[in-house]
Amino acid sequence: MISYEFLTTQKIEEALNYLDKFSKVHILAGGTDLLVNLYKESPRLPDFDYLLDISNIPELKIINSINKFIEIGPLVTHSRLINEPLIKNNFPVLMEAAYTIGSTQIRNRGTIGGNIVNASPAADLLPPLIALRAEVELTSRKGKRVLPLEEFLAGPYKTKLQANELLTKIKIPLLSDNYYTDFQKIGRRKALSIARLSLALVTKIDEEGIFQDTRVVPGSATPYPQSLPVTEEAINGISIFQINLEEIGKITSNEMVSITGERWSTPYKKPTIAVLIKRALERIIKEAKTNE
Ligand SMILES: Cc1cc2nc3c(=O)[nH]c(=O)nc-3n(C[C@H](O)[C@H](O)[C@H](O)COP(=O)(O)OP(=O)(O)OC[C@H]3O[C@@H](n4cnc5c(N)ncnc54)[C@H](O)[C@@H]3O)c2cc1C
Repeated sequence: MISYEFLTTQKIEEALNYLDKFSKVHILAGGTDLLVNLYKESPRLPDFDYLLDISNIPELKIINSINKFIEIGPLVTHSRLINEPLIKNNFPVLMEAAYTIGSTQIRNRGTIGGNIVNASPAADLLPPLIALRAEVELTSRKGKRVLPLEEFLAGPYKTKLQANELLTKIKIPLLSDNYYTDFQKIGRRKALSIARLSLALVTKIDEEGIFQDTRVVPGSATPYPQSLPVTEEAINGISIFQINLEEIGKITSNEMVSITGERWSTPYKKPTIAVLIKRALERIIKEAKTNE
């Protein structure tokens, strides 16, 4: 059995003091990943002497619009992401992804910060957040640093969070006009399914109907969520009236396999990722044509 001391606080400052003062502290937010790992005594759990419960810190639950960014506190739950007008109106792709997570109970308890720091290859919020060019603010007693989320992820279940740091904010730049977004997910079953394969697409379509600034980020497809630059470049500059979706599907499949190599799951994932990018593009093209 893992034994530890329990710490709790309602203030960021005090949480940072604990992280500074004690050397083996593990942070607890909603607990939906952590408590499962504790129960299973998972080898993924780091060695720790203290569990620091941050779930009662009000400052970490805020959602704000500041200087062309939406700032989201790490304790914002998936249910809040679904119901919050600032998210619904600006980043429907994030809302759609949150909606597919677990069950109502898991969505009420699980947080955006926990989903990010747990850094599962199947974490549903990571593809849309990377595609939206989200940044993470990391705070310690020594100060703050801000990293692009894609850079913060360091591998499957690994991030660049230091032992004395707390994730204190997720910052997402607002999209200008003419951006379209979509999230696709295929799971083993509808409720409670961890993503078998997902894909977030964010792209601009200009007045002439040309794709620009395309971002394609699959989930559960690569060792950890990351952009597919070859696919993005293949889409950029093409007209919505001329794009060859079959061709783009093949490019996406090949790019995924170039990252992962051939695996036992490749015969399933290779054609399926092509279907997801085609579906996402079809939905966006339809929406853009309606807006013409
Ligand atoms: C039945 C079930 C179904 C699930 N379904 C899905 C699903 O469909 N899709 C999906 O993506 N996930 C799913 N999950 C996983 C989980 O619910 C999410 O990843 C959730 O967002 C984790 O958030 P949490 O607040 O519970 O994190 P916790 O379990 O509290 O913490 C997770 C990790 O993040 C660290 N951490 C948390 N907050 C901070 C912070 N502010 N600063 C530094 N470190 C921090 C913790 O130390 C820990 O290492 C499921 C889990 C269960 C049990």
